[in-house]
Amino acid sequence: MYHRFDAVIVGAGGAGLMAAAQLAGRCNVAVISKLYPVRSHTGAAQGGIAAALGNVEEDHWIWHMFDTVKGGDYLVDQDAAEVLAREAIDAIIELEHWGFPFNRTPDGRIDQRRFGGHTRNFGEGPVRRACYAADRTGHMILQTLYQTALKRQVTFFDEFMMLDLLLTDDGVCTGVVAMDIETGEIHVFHAKAVLLATGGFGRVYKVTSNALAATGDGDAIAFRRGIPLEDMEFYQFHPTGIYKMGILLSEACRGEGGILRNGLGERFMERYAPTLLDLAPRDMVSRAIYQEIRAGRGVDGKDYVWLDLTHLPADVIETKLPDITDFVRTYLGLDPVKDLIPIQPTAHYAMGGLPTDVDGRVTVDAQNTPIPGLYAAGECACVSVHGANRLGTNSLVDLVVFGRRAGRHMLQFVRENDFHPLPKEPDYRARAEVEWILENEGNERVAQIRAELQEAMMTDAGVFRTGDGLKRLQQKLGELRNRYTRIRIDDKSRTFNMELVEALELGFLLDCAEAIAASALAREESRGAHYREDFPVRDDANWLKHTLITRTSGGLQLSYKPVVITRFEPKERVY
Ligand SMILES: Cc1cc2nc3c(=O)[nH]c(=O)nc-3n(C[C@H](O)[C@H](O)[C@H](O)COP(=O)(O)OP(=O)(O)OC[C@H]3O[C@@H](n4cnc5c(N)ncnc54)[C@H](O)[C@@H]3O)c2cc1C
Repeated sequence: MYHRFDAVIVGAGGAGLMAAAQLAGRCNVAVISKLYPVRSHTGAAQGGIAAALGNVEEDHWIWHMFDTVKGGDYLVDQDAAEVLAREAIDAIIELEHWGFPFNRTPDGRIDQRRFGGHTRNFGEGPVRRACYAADRTGHMILQTLYQTALKRQVTFFDEFMMLDLLLTDDGVCTGVVAMDIETGEIHVFHAKAVLLATGGFGRVYKVTSNALAATGDGDAIAFRRGIPLEDMEFYQFHPTGIYKMGILLSEACRGEGGILRNGLGERFMERYAPTLLDLAPRDMVSRAIYQEIRAGRGVDGKDYVWLDLTHLPADVIETKLPDITDFVRTYLGLDPVKDLIPIQPTAHYAMGGLPTDVDGRVTVDAQNTPIPGLYAAGECACVSVHGANRLGTNSLVDLVVFGRRAGRHMLQFVRENDFHPLPKEPDYRARAEVEWILENEGNERVAQIRAELQEAMMTDAGVFRTGDGLKRLQQKLGELRNRYTRIRIDDKSRTFNMELVEALELGFLLDCAEAIAASALAREESRGAHYREDFPVRDDANWLKHTLITRTSGGLQLSYKPVVITRFEPKERVY
């Protein structure tokens, strides 16, 4: 089936819906989502969204910008960080006007709480910068944006899975191809402008906070079409996942006063971050947890430590962290009011993704040359405001600030440009891929390959990495890629064929994993979330640059682009 829209947005999370809200009513816009929109992963975000409102104590956008740059271990593009910190304030007010039910101060202003790495006066101590709705901030964002998009009459294609991106020979984006999951039918969406807002790829790891659908589809599809991915080696592990399950216990727990303790009961962050303690950035806290475990100070000699909330008033736990409290009671049978909670780092957030400029335009090289008509925003994009390590609450604000900017730029673009003709047989590749998976009669199972992929990524591309481990990982990925060509699925139907969907997603995960492994092996330094035990020091002389990885007919190719530094010269990162 053929559709024609001025603008097509792929992804109905915070980034996609924010962009859609800018375009709706002003041009003809469609949102395609493989999930029903309010099931998008943004809905799982818990603790807060950063903006230097200064409602509870003094704060300034430039302090927010500084923290973002320092938190990202100086790999952040500072022009983008300035946009983020400045425009965050207005974006929050806009959300408030659209009906977002923020927690309030006693005098009725938007309440704010502490979060890791957010400080007053350039690092003097924690500041209350995270606006929030209990521990359901993402849920409320998603509901607010979805309602706004519906009110503005955006056309939704729910449970449609993008399979291909359409580009002309001279590199202009002309649309996407998607499969209607309900019927298996292939649809061509012809567009003047396309926004990819397909979220992250946490499912590449075994222990993760990410939902099943976080499989990097948009990144992988663009990568297959020769578009580079930026800084893929930087993948964030959040310190507090429920032991073995990875389910997230938000940093808001520590923002409200929670403490990490090792098996000896010590508040071990005193050793690693004497000023910010448990509210140090996530890369540092995750490493500190493993260092404690390696030193034999895990709980009962095992690979976990405690999150301690027991000293907090019960009403703070129940009312400001209700979902987390519920998770702990449901999944562990423990009560956070009186029990210590076993936690371990969990794969959480992709700092890397599709390179974009501050207007969301996808770029292809060190000169930031844009692809006409192609945009990206949210976790699948790399603008890059998170550099080597994202600060908590900075993703939600990234979605709304850069989702909004991308939407506005797209509007201008669709007004100034006409439709480009589609390539001949635009759905050829997507159809061939689906048919291949349905018909292949191999002896390999999707679930088995995925499990081995996730295990290998966890072991060799997790919090600690080495050259040898990454080479071993590349070899394993080669083997898995090979076995993937011999998969067989049992369900041959076209109706809600989730076996088919999972097989397609596994292909995307493999692409992302290969990009991570190659980018990580090349970067011979430690910075932010990328910690190389064989190169434990940050090396600005050689590595203060962004990685670009491109798939070519000759294999994966690495190139680099400079980091934009405007206000803050790189310094050693201490907290
Ligand atoms: C448990 C948890 C808690 C978090 N808490 C916070 C927090 O407190 N503060 C903060 O700032 N950040 C937080 N984050 C991070 C933040 O929530 C995410 O980075 C962010 O929500 C991603 O939003 P997005 O719009 O980019 O993508 P998502 O919300 O993941 O949406 C992706 C969309 O793309 C669609 N899609 C994907 N592939 C396809 C395809 N092939 N075809 C069609 N559609 C497709 C999906 O259906 C979905 O609609 C948290 C993350 C997790 C996992």
